[in-house]
Amino acid sequence: MAAQILDGLQTAKTIRAELAAEVAEIKAKSGVTPSLAVLLVGEDPASVTYVSMKKKACLAAGMESSIYELPADSTQEQVKDVITKLNNDPLVHGILVQHPVPKHLDENDILGHVAVEKDVDGISVYSLGKLLLGEAQFVACTPLGIVELMNRYNIPIKGKRAVVVGRSIILGKPMALLLLERHATVTICHSRTENLADVCREADILVAAVGRAEMIKGDWIKPGAAVFDAGYNRVPGRDKDVGDVEYDAAAERASFITPVPGGVGPMTIAMLLRNTVEAAKASIAG
Ligand code: NDP
Repeated sequence: MAAQILDGLQTAKTIRAELAAEVAEIKAKSGVTPSLAVLLVGEDPASVTYVSMKKKACLAAGMESSIYELPADSTQEQVKDVITKLNNDPLVHGILVQHPVPKHLDENDILGHVAVEKDVDGISVYSLGKLLLGEAQFVACTPLGIVELMNRYNIPIKGKRAVVVGRSIILGKPMALLLLERHATVTICHSRTENLADVCREADILVAAVGRAEMIKGDWIKPGAAVFDAGYNRVPGRDKDVGDVEYDAAAERASFITPVPGGVGPMTIAMLLRNTVEAAKASIAG
């Protein structure tokens, strides 16, 4: 039986419409417009695109968004000075530092400089520590978006065997913690994992967060599994990006599957907007 497609594009659209209604209500009641500041250091083309997509999405939901651009050779102090100003600006509710930052900068130190109550990207040391404690205020947007898809499609998590392939700080690790918090039995895989195919074959929930085109083969999918593919890979000669999972073959075995594009990707921005709205609400509540 072919899998049900988890439509991230449509789900994100629904969430963004819900948020737009909430933003209008916040504005009407308090006069406050939820606002996201995005800090871009350097001119990495992919980062420039992501930053402008985030701004557009904010504006479409009736929110405000400003982009602060700094040259690639900025010093640690120059970057932190801008963050300090944004931390102290009461009109800014969420701050996102577009990553990766140039290599000469200490990224963890920069991310950790964002005020906790404005850390809508959820990847500062403090936010990650709170997630580990099960007390997260803001969670990294891509894993949060995957959990939101699970919720909206009523995919059971409790007691299930979940396998997360990838252990990055923005994706694999917070994903595993979110699943653990929801009582899945979680295995995290990485580049040194032995017998990856066999581990994947045990997964009721499989999250691919690797960045290698179609590395996870269709016959690694347990029949009936729910498959979430965060990967975005450009393949020479193909007209659209592909995920980490061999989609067509996997869709033959899975119960649920996210397409690439149109699965996990759109959910990330929707969660960024949601976190920013939550930050604005918390600041109004004082
Ligand atoms: P990273 O490069 O930071 O991490 C990749 C992970 O994959 C690492 O943990 C690495 O293991 C693991 N890995 C690499 N090769 C293998 C292998 N052969 N077998 C098993 N594991 C392997 O990537 P990100 O987490 O930042 O991103 C992962 C993917 O998700 C990318 O395609 C990226 O574009 C996409 N992405 C999508 C987003 C969205 O909005 N949809 C947002 C962010 C990322 P090790 O730790 O051992 O090196």
